[in-house]
Amino acid sequence: MEPATTETRTLRNFVGGGWVEAAQPETLDDVNPATGEVTALVPLSGEADVDAAVRAARDAFPGWRSTPPQKRARAVMALREALWARQEDIARLVTEDMGKTLADARGEVLRGIESTEVACGIPHLLKGENLEGVAGGVDVEMVRQPVGVVGAITPFNFPAMIPLWFLPYAIACGNTFILKPSERDPRPSELIFELIADLDAIPAGVCNLVHGARDAVNGLLDHPGVDAISFVGQASTARYVAERSVATGKRCQALGGAKNSLVVMPDADLEKSVPAIMSSSFGAAGQRCLAGSVAVVVGDAARQDEVVTALREAALALGVGPGDGEGVEVCPLVAPEARDRVVGALERAAQHGADVVLDGRDGTDAGPGGTLLGPTIVATDDPESEIARDELFGPFLTVIRADDLDAALEFVNGSRYGNAGSIFTTSGDAARRYRYEVESGMLGVNVGVAAPVAWFPFSGWKDSIDGDLHANGGDAVEFYTRKKVVTSRW
Ligand code: NAD
Repeated sequence: MEPATTETRTLRNFVGGGWVEAAQPETLDDVNPATGEVTALVPLSGEADVDAAVRAARDAFPGWRSTPPQKRARAVMALREALWARQEDIARLVTEDMGKTLADARGEVLRGIESTEVACGIPHLLKGENLEGVAGGVDVEMVRQPVGVVGAITPFNFPAMIPLWFLPYAIACGNTFILKPSERDPRPSELIFELIADLDAIPAGVCNLVHGARDAVNGLLDHPGVDAISFVGQASTARYVAERSVATGKRCQALGGAKNSLVVMPDADLEKSVPAIMSSSFGAAGQRCLAGSVAVVVGDAARQDEVVTALREAALALGVGPGDGEGVEVCPLVAPEARDRVVGALERAAQHGADVVLDGRDGTDAGPGGTLLGPTIVATDDPESEIARDELFGPFLTVIRADDLDAALEFVNGSRYGNAGSIFTTSGDAARRYRYEVESGMLGVNVGVAAPVAWFPFSGWKDSIDGDLHANGGDAVEFYTRKKVVTSRW
């Protein structure tokens, strides 16, 4: 790894409309995964830094809450314009900081902008309900009011999009906001906040940014001045965040991890399905919560051989390299430890007798950042093995066979996770049955990545979420408002 130089800058928090140094002197390195270069130092903010942000957000709340919804919508529109103008710069920072390909980074930024666009409709989305004459001369109405100060704690794998799943809706609903981005790749968030700093329409204290890791998270979770927490990350962290939020009386939505299956029916058109599986399993080096990480081949052993051969050939043709490299489809992992984790699972699977169809180390060295791993495919007949059940979050596709759709559903629904998945088939009947029975929050039918669509809610089921309300769309408005029912007689 290239060490930090004396010129390596330390990121600052954005609190109450200004950039401030964290009170805590400790920092972490922000490393470019492709090169190993330290690009910035991330302050490990603590309780005092969080407290300053909460105070700023609380001070700004009464004024922002009483700003008419259409003016708040215009503020979000101004943010949308600023994001649109700088989308290429944000995408390039995503590639530099997180590692994904530029094409992927551009898609991520566009999705974040789409969430911002949906939040521009807030005057309509915030409307309540009423019913007149529930008793003689008595009318009832329901109004929505903001929750207060809300915090968002976000993961490394979508450093621009996921903060934008939360920030635009939260402030459009009249809340004030604190972001704690991933400490691994916080620079896209920093750029988004630089844009916010320049917008007169978003007053000081409405949006705040606190860098850091565990202490900053705990500071938010324990602070009595924070009313709600949105979280996205690993399932274990999600559970921790949800439990601690509830213990301190906060509303919480905590989106967790995933182990997504791609069911390949005997009638699936492999020419169309295999490229979709490649992009689902190996795009972003498998570091998407929507990544397909198990291919469930429905049919006999001969069909499994046919599918495995097609997957192997397609995977061998994928370009592996840095995210800004020409023709690269499989980018670096976020850190050398992430690569070690995936390689460890590969070695354990091989020791336990699984069939290594493609070893991602063959022909691909780890590169200057120690983070490159080629597509890896392993077939197993053990449906409860680590590679069939645990999230590996790397370019690793497990292949498993099922006799029929019933057996496929039993395997898929046996997962503790229920984030997403896909079925590939030319049978409407099979697709319909799968759609009805599968226990997951997002489903692709002949689509490898059931990507977020900002007008719809986004989340999984089971251990892929702690809490009820999903991110985005109408659920975001539900999460960021409290309902008040007023019964009147005049
Ligand atoms: P992570 O859980 O390690 O980190 C997420 C956030 O939690 C970060 O901001 C981090 O600082 C904080 N954090 C981590 N450990 C903590 C601890 N012990 N105490 C307090 N705070 C802590 O997740 P990650 O590795 O950054 O992201 C990848 C994970 O996110 C994968 O599991 C992926 O499936 C999941 N994910 C889920 C979705 C979804 O929609 N369900 C979307 C994207 C990513």
